[in-house]
Amino acid sequence: ALTAGIVGLPNVGKSTLFNAITKAGALAANYPFATIEPNVGSVTVPDERLDKLTELVVPKKTVPTTFEFTDIAGIVKGASTGEGLGNKFLAHIREVDAICQVVRCFEDENITHVSGTVNPIDDIEVINLELILADMESVDKRIARVAKMAKQKDKEAMVEEPILQKLKDVLEAEKPARAADLSDDEKKVIKGLHLLTIKPMLYVANVSEDEVADPSENKYVKMVQEYAAAEGAQVITVCAKIEEEISELEDDEKKEFLAELGIAESGLDQLIKASYSLLGLATYFTAGVQEVRAWTFRKGMKAPQCAGIIHSDFERGFIRAETVAYTDLVEYGSKPAAKEAGRVRAEGKEYVVQDGDVLEFLFNV
Ligand code: GDP
Repeated sequence: ALTAGIVGLPNVGKSTLFNAITKAGALAANYPFATIEPNVGSVTVPDERLDKLTELVVPKKTVPTTFEFTDIAGIVKGASTGEGLGNKFLAHIREVDAICQVVRCFEDENITHVSGTVNPIDDIEVINLELILADMESVDKRIARVAKMAKQKDKEAMVEEPILQKLKDVLEAEKPARAADLSDDEKKVIKGLHLLTIKPMLYVANVSEDEVADPSENKYVKMVQEYAAAEGAQVITVCAKIEEEISELEDDEKKEFLAELGIAESGLDQLIKASYSLLGLATYFTAGVQEVRAWTFRKGMKAPQCAGIIHSDFERGFIRAETVAYTDLVEYGSKPAAKEAGRVRAEGKEYVVQDGDVLEFLFNV
């Protein structure tokens, strides 16, 4: 499964946010087969469409889809040169598929800031620079090898060398590898390098309790938003403390609590949704009277692969997928009604599944 890693300097609120994630997850954990590492938190992906489908179908049970966050504590200045436990943390970041960088945007005299004052841009740059330096080392090492092979007219090396050079230029300008604008084919060539800064990143601005309802008033959040916009990255504003407090509440209580604070949607829910889409994930549904369920797939996956997410037999014996878009199903109120209106399609092996598709797989056993 794909996972998003939570990084940030000490004392920015990572553990608080991660506690909220694990508590919310513990409450929702209804799959007994997963063995979860202590630093991995599983959350259910909030999706209003699942509630609506449950209303329409009235199944015995409803199962949301889940998503994982990995807590990567402990990055500090100098991590790329092995300071502290630096390299170990970088190795953990290598294993995640997207990065959520928590940035301290709250003031609190009682909580020390590692560099003395709250300055989110300095903080972001400390972390980003460590990641860039680590990548530079990987790229330099690789260039040294590949250049030799390219001289001996090794075909693959001759393809790889200019890509590495492109990356080197970007990293030397202290920009992340994702700014190098590589084509999908070029990315494939350098995949084995497992670069840190090629992973998609979003920023999580952690604000204080009294600012979360209107974060636009917070000057630090503004700074982060400007910085992120220049990179084309997204910013989610949360109050980690509030998220931790409400993580054990039932949905209804949670909504009430948030409404009292003037918050439309919990920051954690926004973070889950944003990370999910950052990873290129989407959701399809199965909707029978036994069970209405959401399933995670990668955008671009075809119907047989999506069937394989449920069971490998479904993929092996795939015949076709009866497909209706969620919006059509809701509009017509039931699958037979949608069918009558010609909205239920029989899709074959080449069908690229869309977010919100409600599917029924037909397969040979
Ligand atoms: P970490 O080192 O990044 O994991 O940071 P922690 O989650 O341990 O938080 C450091 C301190 O900041 C703790 O005392 C938290 O209670 C406090 N803290 C975290 N989030 C907030 C917040 O949103 N508002 C305020 N006022 N304090 C917070």
